[in-house]
Amino acid sequence: VWLYDDKGAKYLDTVAGIAVCSLGHAHPAVTDAVAGQARRIVHSSNLYRIENQRLLGRRLAEISGLDSVFFCNSGTEANEAAIKLARLYAHNTHDYKAPLIAVMKDAFHGRTMGAWSASRPSDDSPFAPLLPGFVQAEFGDADQLRDLISQHPQLCAVMLEPIQGEAGVRVPADGYLRAVRRLCDDHGLLMIVDEVQTGIARTGRWYCFAHDGIVPDIVCSAKALANGVPIGACIATAEVAKHLVAGTHGSTFGGNPLACAAALAVIETIEQEGLNEHAAAVGGHLMAGLRSALPPHLVREIRGRGLMIGIELTAPCGELPLLALEENLLLNVAGGNTIRLLPPLVLAKNEADIIIGRLTKVLARFEDR
Ligand code: PLP
Repeated sequence: VWLYDDKGAKYLDTVAGIAVCSLGHAHPAVTDAVAGQARRIVHSSNLYRIENQRLLGRRLAEISGLDSVFFCNSGTEANEAAIKLARLYAHNTHDYKAPLIAVMKDAFHGRTMGAWSASRPSDDSPFAPLLPGFVQAEFGDADQLRDLISQHPQLCAVMLEPIQGEAGVRVPADGYLRAVRRLCDDHGLLMIVDEVQTGIARTGRWYCFAHDGIVPDIVCSAKALANGVPIGACIATAEVAKHLVAGTHGSTFGGNPLACAAALAVIETIEQEGLNEHAAAVGGHLMAGLRSALPPHLVREIRGRGLMIGIELTAPCGELPLLALEENLLLNVAGGNTIRLLPPLVLAKNEADIIIGRLTKVLARFEDR
């Protein structure tokens, strides 16, 4: 969890490469897997069977509860695959000419044209024209989603993050994901859950949707999956995945032996070190400690799940990451006024206490500036 700069100064890292380095930096299991795999073969292309990809596909099916995996290289690409898959499914099963996907206000799904259009489908975008085919719903409001569904007969899917990360760690009320699942079932819609930031044990479960006891039709995973080696995965039920036949979608690098070796090591290490349970326990400890230590007049709300924690302040705090450097703490701000803590899941309790202590000092500097 510690990073050292070029002068040897030591920082506690609560950013973890933006929810990527969940095993911390230079974890020997990942280092050994990458080095060992690089000595054998790095790339062969998906023209040939890749054993590591087969093994990783099986592991992802097990931990998600879905069936099939398309491999790519980033969260954005996983979401692009999900959007294409949902449209393909709609064309093949409903014969919709212009299928629509409901997406959430303030969502973030990535920066390619499709993923960006799903994130900010507005006409006044500097990147206009954006891709059509998205309608916006209010995140956290199942009643409003029901109304939206009734207004759009060509709706084929609902796409959402289980906790909105870039928007400032926005956690919906308990039962919201279950209500969305029910609406999708009642209206024949696919439920696409973007677990790029929340997935791979970050919230104390392999995937955040598991807290609500549901299974989506499509799940997008990336970031922490290979602890920093680029990888993305679009995971789907067999019923949906069967439409993505050869020729409909693909990737040169996706699922290569190197990235899959790293991801297999990550999943195995999370299991061996009990990091789902650990993230839940240390996350609870950290959140409780922050609630009692941080000054109430500066803090509007502390929220989150496991080791994904947002501290919403009463004022914009974009300069906090620079102030935090002076206390040897790396942190990140999301949504303008929310400190976003995404430390490595291997964070020990005493290190969580160090975060609380340093953050208290950072907020004092913030107030005095
Ligand atoms: N989806 C979510 C929820 C994200 O948080 C991000 C990145 O922050 C992305 C998608 C995009 O992932 P990537 O940057 O790997 O393309």
